[in-house]
Amino acid sequence: AEALGRGQSGILTESGTLHLVNQSYPFTVHFTGRPAGTPSAASQKGLKSKSMDNGEMGRKAVPKRSIHEFFAGSPKKVAGFDIDGCIITTKSGKVFPTSPDDWRILYPEIQPRLASLLKKGYKVVFFTNQMGISRGKLRPEVFKSKVEDILQTLQLPVQVFVATGPGIYRKPVIGMWQHLCEKANAGVTVDQSESFYVGDAAGRPVNWAPGKKKKDFSCSDRLFALNLGLQFHTPEEFFLGWKKAPFSLPTFDPRKLDSMARLCDPPTASLTSTSQEIIVAVGFPGSGKSTFFQTHIVPKGYEYVNRDTLGSWQNCVKACERGLKEGRSIAVDNTNPDPESRKRYCKSAGVPCRCFNFMASMELAKHNNRVSICSVTNLHLNKFVTPTLSEGFSEILQIHFVPNFADSQLEALYRQFSEG
Ligand SMILES: [Mg+2]
Repeated sequence: AEALGRGQSGILTESGTLHLVNQSYPFTVHFTGRPAGTPSAASQKGLKSKSMDNGEMGRKAVPKRSIHEFFAGSPKKVAGFDIDGCIITTKSGKVFPTSPDDWRILYPEIQPRLASLLKKGYKVVFFTNQMGISRGKLRPEVFKSKVEDILQTLQLPVQVFVATGPGIYRKPVIGMWQHLCEKANAGVTVDQSESFYVGDAAGRPVNWAPGKKKKDFSCSDRLFALNLGLQFHTPEEFFLGWKKAPFSLPTFDPRKLDSMARLCDPPTASLTSTSQEIIVAVGFPGSGKSTFFQTHIVPKGYEYVNRDTLGSWQNCVKACERGLKEGRSIAVDNTNPDPESRKRYCKSAGVPCRCFNFMASMELAKHNNRVSICSVTNLHLNKFVTPTLSEGFSEILQIHFVPNFADSQLEALYRQFSEG
């Protein structure tokens, strides 16, 4: 017997056996047309002794499967599952595990159901978000050994993907699934229409079923399936046969954002002026202010004033005054959430001051920050007061968020639900 480490390779001949995961899961090579002269009796004997090895290890007997069957034949159908709250729950009854061994299989129906999926030719794959790893709260090797314990308990061959931080791999964004399809399915194309995904973060409201059911903390599992166009089930629907529970989707739907929409209201307003002026922005971080100013205003010769680059609002006011003295128009790109912050630029001006109110909702702005189309700045999402003319503005424009995609890949990413 030869032990193989990561990245190493070996050659299997007819009736040779590969054991995955510490002597578990024997996969034996069988050629459909057996090469001439291969002693079939010997291969039978070989199989038997391997089975006995398993018995000696004190593990349940695992059915023999050929490599061909498992790696090449079946995995075009994927049965995907979340782990926490879907395959396992805590023993302690707490929401978060109190220790690495604070887990148990959620329902007794799970193991037989997964086994029958494998028998029907599905590949069983777990997809889990574990942000605690990148936050330094969970050591990767601790989580890895927990996953190994879970698979040891299930006694089934399962492929597992772990998103350790934010970004494209974190559900509901589809990076883990794409990685499976492109890099981790032995070159076999996954058939999305025959595949499905099961998870407990399904956007269900409080009391979604009788018996004091808590509201789902998130909708990220349902949105993961929605982003992929996969059939979706909750664990209770899939393993226990419960009827479909009610649910709600986030109010912001990135698929519906119109990239051909009107940019501003009133539509007849002029974005820039030929006479000297100040433009004061109002809007959430991520509402598209900087992109808008850099695209439409700065190229027309406006001085760009921004707290992130100048450090403080005092420096912004100074830069504003200096620019005005030099006879230039000014664009103030700050969140400017309240009348107090806006009047710093408006009152002292001596030239007309217009307000550009960026209308992107908080949900849209958060989405933008997550997919990083817009610059990410400090989040002061509280206390936005709608600007009025009484603050001293000569005009208030409503600026709508109209996405402009550099390429189709970026658009595909943008059109996915990014959090739920
Ligand atoms: Mg979960």
